Amino acid sequence: MTDCIFCKIAAGDIPANKLYEDDDVVAFHDIRPIAPVHFMIIPKTHVDSLAHCSEAHQSLLGKIMLLAPKLAAEQGLAAGFKTGINTGRGGGQEVFHLHVHVFGHKM
Ligand code: AMP
Ligand code: ZN
Repeated sequence: MTDCIFCKIAAGDIPANKLYEDDDVVAFHDIRPIAPVHFMIIPKTHVDSLAHCSEAHQSLLGKIMLLAPKLAAEQGLAAGFKTGINTGRGGGQEVFHLHVHVFGHKM
């Protein structure tokens, strides 16, 4: 999607503080962190939200969820972390490109 900010980050067209990237996903730090460590993991392919996912996204969603604890540990959250997926306007979603928030305090 040409006007999606997270598609632009995934494509490298606008800068982000990335901590991980492969062919399928990218992880970057949130510009308005709500915790000392706060990053998000997104698929490179555009999907509006969790509510727009289908079985075609199953392995991608699994990949993102398995990546969360690995990246959290690398970022100093080995003792634990929170995850969040805001879905739809009723769920407080502001950026309509699926993303999984990972955040917490280093202990
Ligand atoms: P939400 O859709 O409610 O999960 O919120 C979107 C999140 O994306 C917010 O926490 C924003 O701070 C974050 N965000 C928006 N634009 C950027 C950006 N260019 N780089 C990093 N994080 C962003
Ligand atoms: Zn997008």
